Amino acid sequence: MHEASIACSLLDLAEQYCVKNNYHTINSLTVRIGKLSGVMPDALIFAFDVVKHDSIAEGAHLIVEQVNPSGMCNDCKKDFTFDAPYIFECPLCGSTSFVITRGRELELTEMEVDI
Ligand SMILES: [Zn+2]
Repeated sequence: MHEASIACSLLDLAEQYCVKNNYHTINSLTVRIGKLSGVMPDALIFAFDVVKHDSIAEGAHLIVEQVNPSGMCNDCKKDFTFDAPYIFECPLCGSTSFVITRGRELELTEMEVDI
């Protein structure tokens, strides 16, 4: 269960931040997940709902924002986005020489807390 360990790490990160800043309750967490990260949003939300018990995030919602992957072509030099788990060629010119620039991220972007 890949998502379970990610949910634990997210919760740890959020709790550490709250302890440091003296926040006592987490109401919601927003994470941004690239579609190439291999993380299933539903599984992550499910896992988070399990690990949040008896923590300061017990009543928190996990909000997942998915990011479409994007890349940059080495031949036509253009940026492109795509909506698939993989890509074999530049959708603009068909070149197979490109770099993936976004889509693998997993970031905690927002947190709503009570003091
Ligand atoms: Zn191209």
